[in-house]
Amino acid sequence: MEETAYAKINLALHVRGREADGYHRIETVFAFAEDGDRLRVAPAEGLRLELEGPYAGAVPAGDDNLVLRAARALRRICGVREGAALTLDKRLPVASGIGGGSADAAAALRLLARLWRLEPEAGALMDIARELGADVPACLDSTTAMGTGRGDVLAPADGPRPGTPLLLVNPGVAVATAEVFPRWEGMDGGPLPGDWREGRNDLQAPALAVAPEIEAVLDALAAQRGARHVRMSGSGATCFALFESEADRDLAAVGIGADHPGWWRLSSRTR
Ligand code: ATP
Repeated sequence: MEETAYAKINLALHVRGREADGYHRIETVFAFAEDGDRLRVAPAEGLRLELEGPYAGAVPAGDDNLVLRAARALRRICGVREGAALTLDKRLPVASGIGGGSADAAAALRLLARLWRLEPEAGALMDIARELGADVPACLDSTTAMGTGRGDVLAPADGPRPGTPLLLVNPGVAVATAEVFPRWEGMDGGPLPGDWREGRNDLQAPALAVAPEIEAVLDALAAQRGARHVRMSGSGATCFALFESEADRDLAAVGIGADHPGWWRLSSRTR
């Protein structure tokens, strides 16, 4: 059995305030790529996880891995005795604003619920997801949604039509979310507009202070023919563009790859 841990993008992300506990109130529109990490599972006694793929070395191999944390939480809450042998093919760069760990945790919940034939009560998986991280609830459904609160209170939202050509680009610098939020200047720039295309990413300036390379990625994407809606995702450093056509997206991927061989790219489409 297999699941894709779909890469998450934030079409817009407005930071509205800082809470006393250090968390931030945000308003965001999540969307998802058709591609991401891959998670496989086979029945087994006990829980184990193997890592493979280009970024296998960049994530914790043991109990701290979000896949195993999700598996343990599901087992505990649903009273499961069976085990699982999981293999995570880690293709998404880590600490890059596209929710890799959150998507992996959500994919583990979907996959193990199938393997263990669980029929949890409505909302039970969402509750587990919320415990695992603010972006995990959105990743559970992996469909376009508006997120408020910490991003974990979800509502339906408009976004690009499914299948819209998408290019993700990362300059190869890991940016920890915890380094970016404290650099937010503290000025509420206002709510998300009704049209997602008019939204900002308020974390862009703070992320640029941590990783100035992001500017070059945004410029490179904006210069491509047919590029629409160029933004940084999450707390960076991955940026993305939506394209008019797959031909334009593919040309952009080739051009950016030739100019910046060290940058990571993913050609995909929105879900
Ligand atoms: P977001 O967009 O939600 O802010 P991100 O892309 O910036 O996420 P992740 O790639 O999810 O960040 O990594 C965040 C942290 O989670 C890393 O420091 C990493 O060590 C840890 N982690 C644990 N398990 C995983 C996993 N399966 N994949 C990625 N990171 C993991």
